[in-house]
This record gives sequence, C-alpha cells and structure tokens, in this order.
Amino acid sequence: MSNHYDVLGVSRDATAEEIKKAYRKLARKLHPDVNTGPEAAEQFKQVSHAYEVLSDPQKRRVYDTTGNENGTDSGFGGGYSGAGFAFQDIFETFFGGQGSAGPPSRTRRGQDALINVRIDLKDAVFGVNKKIEVDTAVVCPTCDGSCCRPGTSPRTCDICGGSGQVQRAVRSILGQVMTAAPCGSCQGFGTIIPDPCNECNGEGRIRSRRSLTIKIPAGVGTGTRIQLAGQGESGTAGGPQGDLYVEIRVAPDKNFIREGDDLHVTMAVPMTAAALGTDVDMDTFDGTQSLNIKPGTQAGEIITLKGLGVTHLRGYGRGDLKVHVHVETPTRLDSEQEELLRQLAASRGEQFTEGKLAGSGSGVFARLRDKLGNL
Ligand SMILES: [Zn+2]
Ligand SMILES: [Zn+2]
Repeated sequence: MSNHYDVLGVSRDATAEEIKKAYRKLARKLHPDVNTGPEAAEQFKQVSHAYEVLSDPQKRRVYDTTGNENGTDSGFGGGYSGAGFAFQDIFETFFGGQGSAGPPSRTRRGQDALINVRIDLKDAVFGVNKKIEVDTAVVCPTCDGSCCRPGTSPRTCDICGGSGQVQRAVRSILGQVMTAAPCGSCQGFGTIIPDPCNECNGEGRIRSRRSLTIKIPAGVGTGTRIQLAGQGESGTAGGPQGDLYVEIRVAPDKNFIREGDDLHVTMAVPMTAAALGTDVDMDTFDGTQSLNIKPGTQAGEIITLKGLGVTHLRGYGRGDLKVHVHVETPTRLDSEQEELLRQLAASRGEQFTEGKLAGSGSGVFARLRDKLGNL
C-alpha cells in the first residue's frame, strides 16, 4: 500500500490547506460520477482514505509516528473499521453510497411464503399426498415478467441517461462537490417502462391462486415445516421465486393421543372380561387388530402393540400403540345379576367390611410411580 502523502501528491510537511487542496483536485478528477475508468474507483478510495487520515491532526500524528493510522502494524488489517475511523461514513456523506456500480436491476427474488396445512393424525402416522391451494404472486402470463405491454420494451431514462443517478452540486467543507442521488424519473433503475403491461401494472407478476400437491412425509407433527424450493412468491420483473414453507398442524383425534411416536388409546373392558380374559377386536390406524386381554387384567394396565404407532420421521420403524385398559364396573344390575354377584362375592370371601391398604408397590400406584420417576 502506498504512502498517503504520495497518494495525495503532497510533501510530508504539507500544511492542512495544501492537503485539502490536493484532495479536492484529485477527488474531482477521480470521483466515480465523472470518471468511469476501471481504476478510478479504486484510486478514488485510496485518495479519500489518505485524506481521511491526513486531514485529522490526531490521525496524521499517529500515521507519521507509526507509519499506519491505527498505531499498530496491522495497516489496513482491520479494514476501514478501526477505532474512531469513519471512512465509510465520510465517503457516503460526501458522495452517496452508490459508487459506480451501475443502476440496480428491477428484478428481485420473490419472498418466501408460509402456509398452514391441517392434517389428520392418521395422515401424520403414514404420510399423505395433500392437494393445497396457494395464493401467491406468479409471473405475469401477459408480459412474461418483462413488465412491458407486449410489443413494447423499456427505454433508457432521458433524465439520468441510464445511470439511474442524477448529480447535484452540494456545498461541503471541500467546497462544491457533486453528489449522486437516485434518479426520481426512473426510480434509479436507469430505464423507463413507457407502456406498462395492463395485467400486472408493470410489476411483472400477478397474484394467483394455484393448486399444488405436496407430499407430506410420515411422522410429521404439529409445527413441522416442509420447505418447497422455488414454490413461493415470484419476484418482480421476472425475478426468481422464493420458497414455500408448509407448516403442519395435526388435528386432535377423537380416540388416539400421540406422545412422541407412540400412540395411546383407552379400551373399555367389562369387569367380567377383565377377570376371565378374552380376545377382542380393536380399531387401529392399521385396521382391525386382535387385542388379547389376559385373565385377571387390572384397571389401568397398559397393553403394548409394538410397531403400530407413528412412523419415525427420521430413520426407520414406528412407535408403539399403548392400550390403556379401563375396567368397567357394571351398573344397573337386575335382581338376578345382583344375586349372582353376591354369590361370587360370598364364594371368594369378599364381603369387604374391613378395608385393607394394598401397599404402594402394587397396582395403579406402582405404575404411577414408574411414570413419575423416583419421586
Ligand atoms: Zn404483465
Ligand atoms: Zn433516470
């Protein structure tokens, strides 16, 4: 990197006035608005930077002593962000931030879109192809994103000559400086669309409702987002499409509750069946399954059917289906049934006039304790 004094073409003992004068002269010659040569922008930056250092007595002193502006040996190492160093600010204040990059394009990438899709629990278990309606911006079919009425085309802006910028003279501490501002006539695009497309009002895109079939994988849950690249909003002026995100909501099921990838369901079992045991048909998402109730099944017991739960979203296999047994005590006994039960009670010695605690290691409590951990 060359010496700041050389860059400005002044001697080491130049006065502040001489430095200012040298800078002004170079800035007028090299400013991107007047000089579009390939090296001018870089030179202009160097000149501005040299001036930024040498015009500040403190920075100049540091520079004279250490050979660089930060008082360390890192030179430009920290970019233009050294402490108290506001090159970028000054650059923008004097000359606007645009430099000589040329006018921006009208073409912009479209925004991402998010839609919610509600599915049934069964669809979360197995996955589903779902047809959805999406209301987004799409490329205008009339102008094909050109923004122009068919048969017409954009023309170069007369006001700025296609640069997208207009220059204004501004007084500053450097004297009169030309500064660039976006052209109001073409909004800085450098071109004018004289005859905008009627259908899209010159935006190159229109709102449209379209239907789309999406593949929802097995194992999704409420809050799962599926990204569909390029299915979001079309950009302006034929710009690329954003992405579409589909956020899943799983509707509550009237029978099954999901916990992770396991499903839970409650099965009402008559007291006699729980005592005697039986095989019973049960509806599951996998169709009718035979559930074996062992003789002496207790209320609250859980029968696990392996692999009948929700498909794992990542990896293979499925969770389990856990059937919670709810033993139904008979109500509204007729006199014959009541008599039978009294006989059964007598035969088992279960008159039950003195309560006996079952102990915390048995039955419902044991299962509750297992579930709660070692509380
Ligand atoms: Zn159009
Ligand atoms: Zn213009």
